[in-house]
Amino acid sequence: MRSFAYSSHPIRVLFGAGTLRQLPDEVRRLGGTRVLLLARSQPGEAARAALGALCVAQFTDATMHTPVEVTERALAMLREHGADCLVSVGGGTSTGLGKALSVRTGLPHLAVPTTYAGSEVTPVLGETGNGGKTTRSAPAILPETVLYDVELTLALPVPVSVTSGVNAMAHAVEALYSPDANPVIDGFATRAIAGMAAALPRIAQNPSDVDARADALMAAWLAGTCLAGAGMGLHHKLCHILGGTFDLPHAQTHTVVLPHAMAYNAPTAPDAMRRIAEALGTGDAAAGMFDLIASLGGPTSLRALGLPEAELSRAALLANAGAESSPYPNPREVTVEGVERLLRDAWAGQRPE
Ligand code: NAD
Repeated sequence: MRSFAYSSHPIRVLFGAGTLRQLPDEVRRLGGTRVLLLARSQPGEAARAALGALCVAQFTDATMHTPVEVTERALAMLREHGADCLVSVGGGTSTGLGKALSVRTGLPHLAVPTTYAGSEVTPVLGETGNGGKTTRSAPAILPETVLYDVELTLALPVPVSVTSGVNAMAHAVEALYSPDANPVIDGFATRAIAGMAAALPRIAQNPSDVDARADALMAAWLAGTCLAGAGMGLHHKLCHILGGTFDLPHAQTHTVVLPHAMAYNAPTAPDAMRRIAEALGTGDAAAGMFDLIASLGGPTSLRALGLPEAELSRAALLANAGAESSPYPNPREVTVEGVERLLRDAWAGQRPE
């Protein structure tokens, strides 16, 4: 028998196809009468049309890793138009800006996610400024409402679907070996990994497969819930450093690093690895994850993402310094040499054995 603690977060979730039609009612339910819409491209246009006169302004410059300077520009727009509700439509980039504005102003935030990043269900906000990334967690960061509309994800390009889907699986993988793991999170995590691993090949074959898209979006929600409920380890720390300090793209970096972080942790997390392998339908979890990514045409090397080889040692030092200054849970001890070896394999795109 295993004793555990589990905290759930108060959030209203609507899931379905065509749910965007409910957006105006959901805004009014939050007391919103003047919406600042954070969105661009086609899903943004659909949301703007659905909101009609409720939308008083639209900010289209959300930027990955939530730079503080961009948040300040959006804040000026929010004040200029007297907005009383935030609606973010898009991937983790739009959601992140919605969180940054909501936590600064106290305004309600309704998130409409269109990727599989999972940020919409976490009380976590990462922001960049002064050459680094800081992350904080607070209940006020969590959006009040999440509206999942599968139809908005049909046009998500396959390469983004793949990297974003692996980003989701990374939350679930690290939850399984987190010290906060518990049977509830374990259930979400294994279902998220199995659901995403089965959905991505179907999406790659037919991006408009509504059932596959629904399975992936559901998996993304569950994976985001894992991220919200369990402390993340070395994999997330490395991606945080590679994104925040070396400006590598978020989901692609997760995709390249995940199999290597899993291989690093495998000797000290055998039970988690067995469950992951089972969920992936493979013999070895790390190699199976690498093979899945490669079969979907996803990126497999940091070199291809543009990281100079000369930066690997600095990234390893930063991961190790982070473990000392702000400790993060990881099943295996984080050493500079070990992380540098991991990063060298990830840089070269070597399949974990
Ligand atoms: P993203 O939001 O930047 O989206 C990736 C690309 O896909 C963009 O070009 C976007 O315009 C496009 N796109 C999104 N939805 C689309 C759709 N339906 N159709 C067509 N194109 C579409 O990338 P992301 O990976 O979703 O999010 C990354 C950001 O989220 C990073 O800043 C990361 O730090 C943050 N994040 C935060 C958390 C958290 O819990 N705080 C979790 C995961 C990610």
